[in-house]
Amino acid sequence: MTSQTPIAETIKDLSQELLLTLAQAKARLLAEDPESSRPLTVGFVPTMGALHEGHATLIRRAREQNDVVLLSIFVNPLQFGPGEDYERYPRTLEADAALAAAEGVDLIFAPSVEAMYPGGDPKITVSSGKLGTIFEGKTRPGHFDGVLTVVNKFFNILLPLTLPQDAQLTAYFGQKDAQQLALIQRMVKDFNQQITLKSVPVVRADDGLALSSRNQYLNEQEREAALVLSRTLATLREKYITGTLGPDALDQARAAIDSTEGVRLDYLEVVDTDTFEAPTSDQARVLALVAAFVGSTRLIDNMDIN
Ligand code: AMP
Repeated sequence: MTSQTPIAETIKDLSQELLLTLAQAKARLLAEDPESSRPLTVGFVPTMGALHEGHATLIRRAREQNDVVLLSIFVNPLQFGPGEDYERYPRTLEADAALAAAEGVDLIFAPSVEAMYPGGDPKITVSSGKLGTIFEGKTRPGHFDGVLTVVNKFFNILLPLTLPQDAQLTAYFGQKDAQQLALIQRMVKDFNQQITLKSVPVVRADDGLALSSRNQYLNEQEREAALVLSRTLATLREKYITGTLGPDALDQARAAIDSTEGVRLDYLEVVDTDTFEAPTSDQARVLALVAAFVGSTRLIDNMDIN
């Protein structure tokens, strides 16, 4: 291990390490300001690892805003369908720990599958409802139930540790996974979870490609072909802003993606950011969403277009 950031690998380890970390943070706070009665703040950044600048941006935001920063790294089998890339998903714990340490993460939680799901898949899971069955959920049935179940478990593991310490938990998610973000916001509200959610915009490479751990699967030609996704979203934004985005423009955009060699469009749609339905009011924040296979790699991207 190249880093100084403690890695808590099981839930028991996490509990011990987090309580210690919170106690140390509280002591630091009181040393700086003996009168301080403000609650400790804990920023939580859940990931599947193979960390890149998108994750680093979330970590930095959490670091700026909290006393304690906790990162989870867990490739969650529940959110992968049959034939998807669960086995080959990149696992780079050492490099991830080095990045986390450099960004000032206090504690990494990297549980085993057995620690998270003792005795196999859980019998009770979170249902993502209708929003979980469209777009990503249509192509990846069960994906969002798996995401919400693991995020719910993380929150349930963390909240009892933080609340008695008078600590406030904020979880950080990327707008790169816009539908996931909308579903987690819904879950926190519907389940009355005492947690604040914050999000960061999509982080892109210089040429516009949205950063993703799955970009590692792309060869040089595929990486080049994948640029059609962000370019098409940018074109849609241009058209929306100038009032020229009609159904024809959307069809042309779909054709532009589908006619790119090595790229197969799954969906391209313009939706209301909160409901993922067709935008109805001028006040709505409007999002263009895309998913496509580039070679055998499935990529998603989205852009605020108003
Ligand atoms: P993942 O490891 O892919 O599950 O992602 C963990 C978190 O990082 C999620 O909240 C993602 O939305 C966020 N994330 C991943 N890629 C990006 C990106 N390019 N820009 C912003 N956030 C991202």
